[in-house]
Amino acid sequence: MIHNFNAGPSILPKEVFEQASAAILNFNNTGLSILELGHRTSLFQEVVDEALGTARELMKLDSDHEIIFLQGGASTQFFQVPMNLLNEQQTAAYLDGGVWGKKAIKEARLYGHVDVVASSKDRNYTYIPKDYKIPADAAYFHYTTNNTIEGTQMHSIPDSPAPLVADMSSDILSRVMDFNRFALIYAGAQKNIGAAGVNMLVVRKDILGKVDRPLPSMMDYREHIAAGSLLNTPPVFAIYVCMLTLRWLKALGGVPAIEAINNRKAALLYDTLDRLPIFRPTVAREDRSKMNVVFVMDDPALEQEFQALCKANGMVGVKGHRSVGGFRISLYNALPLESVQTLTEMMNEFALKKA
Ligand SMILES: *Cc1c(COP(=O)(O)O)cnc(C)c1O
Repeated sequence: MIHNFNAGPSILPKEVFEQASAAILNFNNTGLSILELGHRTSLFQEVVDEALGTARELMKLDSDHEIIFLQGGASTQFFQVPMNLLNEQQTAAYLDGGVWGKKAIKEARLYGHVDVVASSKDRNYTYIPKDYKIPADAAYFHYTTNNTIEGTQMHSIPDSPAPLVADMSSDILSRVMDFNRFALIYAGAQKNIGAAGVNMLVVRKDILGKVDRPLPSMMDYREHIAAGSLLNTPPVFAIYVCMLTLRWLKALGGVPAIEAINNRKAALLYDTLDRLPIFRPTVAREDRSKMNVVFVMDDPALEQEFQALCKANGMVGVKGHRSVGGFRISLYNALPLESVQTLTEMMNEFALKKA
């Protein structure tokens, strides 16, 4: 049995894999593969409608907010956001909470001024900066809700006088949140909502259309909204997988239900790490991520031994990001509690043997 703790692309529900596989051979008994379906057909329109409708329902979005599917990964949003929202003479406020936030800052500087209101770089991004002031005249305030690489997470939405913009790639739909408080949310699908190749973007319509620069149609959110995510050929299969995953989440009981499961998984793993001195979590306790759990062992030989043990027991994706080292265990929505139970039992036995 394989336990998949990959950081992204990552595990999806088993029934999603089964349904997606079946649809490659025969989509909804049409005799056609999902891979050969025209994107302007009513068959695919139903897929897009269900995906966007379910996402809207799960997030309880109000009518001021639009949802669209885009391509280019979350990394494209690092520049597409300032392109659409930031005039050259304006300033956007950014929180530098990790590697992904830092990349977003770099790209924003191509389009306007950037005010980095706080950074946790001084301690290798192992905590969330707390005391900072967001200027009221900032075009927007951008932050990363969950720092996938470093394993930190913002547990509440910051009070901001400027419109809130968030990269939620690695924790979207994992916990109850007032999504309507955001002016813009983006997320690559490959962690919590589907297959790689598509982004989900939520935007409050009134913040658009305020920049002076000309925007290529493919870069202009308004064009994608007007075209209902079908401005050009969309990633048909990736959107289909999102639709199946969102349908799965809805049937499970939606965001509150998955949050309860995610809380149990994270509590079990962190309790185990805290109890066993041979493992050392790297992140400030109050900022620990429930999606990506990062820890090290002080003895490199033991780290290697534990790595090998994971491999022998079918546990994949446990190695930490190359910039952090140690281990990273990703606990995305689709990861079953049983996988965490198996892992923590193995940790207990390992620690006992080494004590
Ligand atoms: C994975 C990730 C990204 C990068 O996504 P791509 O789709 O590879 O561009 C950006 N931000 C966060 C928070 C991520 O977890």
